[in-house]
Amino acid sequence: MAGNDETKDWVTKDRDYLWHAMSPYNEQVPPMVVTGGQGSWITDSTGKRYLDGMSGLWCVNVGYGREELAAAAYEQLKALAYYPLTQSHRPAIQLAEKLNEWLEGEYVIFFSNSGSDANETAFKIARQYHQQNGEPSRYKFISRYRAYHGSSMGALAATGQAQRKYMYEPLGGGFLHVRPPDSYRRPEGMSAEAFSLFCAREIEEKIVWEGKETIAGVIVEPAITGGGILVPHPSYLPEVQRICVKHNVLLIIDEVICGFGRSGEKFGHMNFGIKPDIVTMAKGLTSGYLPLSATAVRKDIYEQFKGAGAYDHFRHINTFGGNPAACALALKNLEIMEREGLVERSRALGQRLEEQTAELLQHPFTGDLRSFGFMLGIELVADKQTKEPLPLAAVGKIIAGCKAKGLLIGKNGDTVAGFNNVLTIAPPLSSTDDDVDFLLAALKQTMEEVKPL
Ligand code: PMP
Repeated sequence: MAGNDETKDWVTKDRDYLWHAMSPYNEQVPPMVVTGGQGSWITDSTGKRYLDGMSGLWCVNVGYGREELAAAAYEQLKALAYYPLTQSHRPAIQLAEKLNEWLEGEYVIFFSNSGSDANETAFKIARQYHQQNGEPSRYKFISRYRAYHGSSMGALAATGQAQRKYMYEPLGGGFLHVRPPDSYRRPEGMSAEAFSLFCAREIEEKIVWEGKETIAGVIVEPAITGGGILVPHPSYLPEVQRICVKHNVLLIIDEVICGFGRSGEKFGHMNFGIKPDIVTMAKGLTSGYLPLSATAVRKDIYEQFKGAGAYDHFRHINTFGGNPAACALALKNLEIMEREGLVERSRALGQRLEEQTAELLQHPFTGDLRSFGFMLGIELVADKQTKEPLPLAAVGKIIAGCKAKGLLIGKNGDTVAGFNNVLTIAPPLSSTDDDVDFLLAALKQTMEEVKPL
């Protein structure tokens, strides 16, 4: 076990050289220097172990320490470490075929490196598709407030969280936002179904008011994840699809978090019986072991890009997109998911989490509990009547309390919009029953401790 002196050293060097993502500099709280991972657990440089209740950043779906994944990448690196996908290689072909099987549809796959890349790729494909389909005025995209779609200028423009955007504007143009189907905060007296249809129809209103000939696509996650686990009523996405079809607008489904079993189905949209035009994916594709993302595009859309003109093909590339080792690793990752039945396990564990956390609704701070596959959101409020969000300091106490007990959980919201109050839980899909027991005990004990007197 590494000693505390060694940890101090790492922390000093970290502070000298490393710039952390999405984290304020804090002299009092040193960063956790993570040194290892096995199953659902990580170890820090002091030797303390934590159950990773967030799968890193919602991505380590098969858990840590899978030697098979390391071996798949190693063997591929020896055989062919790199070649761009202006030409081809076998791991990319095999993975594209495999993804078609998982998607249960007819899709052509474009590989990139990150979820943001996958969404940028989708936007560019959609715009070019409409150009080549004789409707060049279609360039705008509609997404929802509270959604997150990535950090690059276009994907961030599609994002509906003010806190992530306001320092960096202006972003990519042509991105419009509508109300998310947040049924916890729906108008009093309106049913969840009526509210979901109302939200879907806001998309149609936007299309009509903007001029339908200007709209290229709608991008939505199956359930808004990073924005607070907002799970739509079953009627919402079919209605969104109906509206898109009616107005010849492409429906882009962002499966970066919901994909690869997280939702209890292979892909989140499969819970709602819809067929997207474009599907973007990343994270769980490699379980985070290597960077890789994909944009799956309906085959008949791809047909528009087959013309012989100088600009007919897709003029887009990522140097590292579809790296052979990343593709080989992704294939092995999907093989593990199939062999171990991790999609079904996600559904079963999610159900258990939902049932065994239901009692938390009695807690004075719990406004709402929302689950989608093996993912749970706990919306914390200071007042159950007014639904006023619990202040950040109190939310932070719960997260710190869990951490002290060896459980890492997340938090989502939007500081600028005035709420930062949804605890998020999304452990590896390979978690054992004991892991879930540990998680439930640590969470419940912490919630008990923070109860107001
Ligand atoms: N879409 C969604 C739904 C995401 O949650 C994320 C990342 N959290 C992204 C896109 C962007 O992915 P990346 O960070 O790999 O660029």
